[in-house]
Amino acid sequence: MIRSKDELDKMRRAGRVVAEMLEETRAAIRPGVTTRELNDVAAEVIERRGARSNFLNYHGFPAVICTSPNDMIVHGIPGEYVLREGDIISVDAGAIVEGYHGDAAYTAAVGTVSPLAARLIEVTERSLWAGIDQLVAGSRLHEVGRAVQKVAEAAGFSVVREYVGHAIGTEMHETPQVPNYWPGTPGPTLKSGMVYAVEPMVNVGRYETVALDDGWSVVTADGQLSAHFEHTIAVTDDGPEVFTRP
Ligand code: MG
Repeated sequence: MIRSKDELDKMRRAGRVVAEMLEETRAAIRPGVTTRELNDVAAEVIERRGARSNFLNYHGFPAVICTSPNDMIVHGIPGEYVLREGDIISVDAGAIVEGYHGDAAYTAAVGTVSPLAARLIEVTERSLWAGIDQLVAGSRLHEVGRAVQKVAEAAGFSVVREYVGHAIGTEMHETPQVPNYWPGTPGPTLKSGMVYAVEPMVNVGRYETVALDDGWSVVTADGQLSAHFEHTIAVTDDGPEVFTRP
């Protein structure tokens, strides 16, 4: 869908709220902090900005962010989990301003992490930016996934197949989807005014996933580490514009 100037401006404002959620939760990450405390930090940003949460009550989700440590890929529920030195923690945040959505995520190191964990975080973030670089009018959407996959696999890692990025606007998850791999068929042609959430989930080991009994948390099937980075980005005449950049 092509968004008007007015709609893009609302999405820009939603993106700024999400960027603050990323910034402030990141600043709160250290050993001894619970994932519930990170959620409280994010909820305070939403409240202060007069925004609404798109995560809270989404199919019954009980929090304003997802917190997914270590081998958890996405959709972890904030709670009593205490961050420990050496953990990695993925934080996924979203907000609504005047009916328009923003959505973004990052993975952070808790204190000092293993060289492998540090490399996973670096490669996953780099794969996101490689994907973002493809959001150029006249190109095709599948180039995003192709670029993400190339970066992740060149590092010896794998890209999750079962969860993907998405168009975003008046709903958090709109069509089309944005796979982080070559999907086998070409995607739509990109036009100025389209907005996408690009969100590579990269695993150290195999890409298979397992959903836990809480109905939300998704972990790697092989128990190895996973990282997740995401931004909400518009295709513009001047190239990709990242709405959720802190
Ligand atoms: Mg998303």
